[in-house]
Amino acid sequence: MLLKDKVALVTGSTSGIGLAIARALAAEGARVMLNGFGDKAEIKQIRDEIAELSQDLASYSDADLSKPAAIDKMIATCTDELGSPSILINNAGVQHVSPVESFPADKWDLIMAVNLSAVFHTTRLCLPSMRQRGWGRIINTASAHSLVASPNKSAYVAAKHGVAGFTKSVALEAARDGVTVNCISPGYVWTTLVENQIPDTMKARGMTREQVMNDVLLSAQPTKRFVEPVEVASLALYLCRPEAGSITGANLSMDGGWTAQ
Ligand code: NAD
Repeated sequence: MLLKDKVALVTGSTSGIGLAIARALAAEGARVMLNGFGDKAEIKQIRDEIAELSQDLASYSDADLSKPAAIDKMIATCTDELGSPSILINNAGVQHVSPVESFPADKWDLIMAVNLSAVFHTTRLCLPSMRQRGWGRIINTASAHSLVASPNKSAYVAAKHGVAGFTKSVALEAARDGVTVNCISPGYVWTTLVENQIPDTMKARGMTREQVMNDVLLSAQPTKRFVEPVEVASLALYLCRPEAGSITGANLSMDGGWTAQ
């Protein structure tokens, strides 16, 4: 198996894209540390599934990534229980939609903390052992919104542009150490987060499900279909392969053509 004896920390892996990435890495033998919020029994089930997939240890941290001290503790626990991570997937993210002049300051701070500052904290804590080992992979889930904007998403767009810039800078710093640093920028991905928006939008706009999906959510996405979490996971897994060793500092779009327009 490709990732046998490698330790992968996947933030925001209790659902959606992060869970798909955790599954893909575990299926290649990685020892995975999960992180994110959710129902305790469901998380236990996910942890068991991941351990079964990898035929190795799996662990879970409930760290709230908006809190730097909790991030410190999560990395220390991961190192104690599984080993220091040589694969770091910065995936946790939150969103809030509001015009800038009425954007709640606490939501701005939360989005910056989880979507951007947490990426800095995990990276600064994990990079030294990757360098020592001479091998590492840092993969950040950015977004099409790291390249282009939409109205009413100022905090998210600013944070994701920040992730793209941070990725490039750290890639240059680690370029001679066997550590690659990249981001993946999906368009709309079919996760419960997106699925849950559909009924309310149908009601609010008097639209059918098809109309909401095509004219609202997928209006910017030329393929008119959602990206699947497993597609993002496959690209993340590819970036962990030896033949991806020269891909670093890249912002890899997976957006059905959105940012080609
Ligand atoms: P999701 O809501 O299914 O997953 C988000 C994960 O982050 C969950 O595990 C959640 O518990 C965790 N999380 C949220 N706040 C946290 C916190 N403070 N501390 C720790 N964990 C926290 O959403 P998703 O669509 O899978 O999103 C994953 C990533 O993909 C995010 O960074 C998001 O911005 C990005 N993304 C999503 C889409 C999309 O259309 N779904 C598109 C582009 C980028």
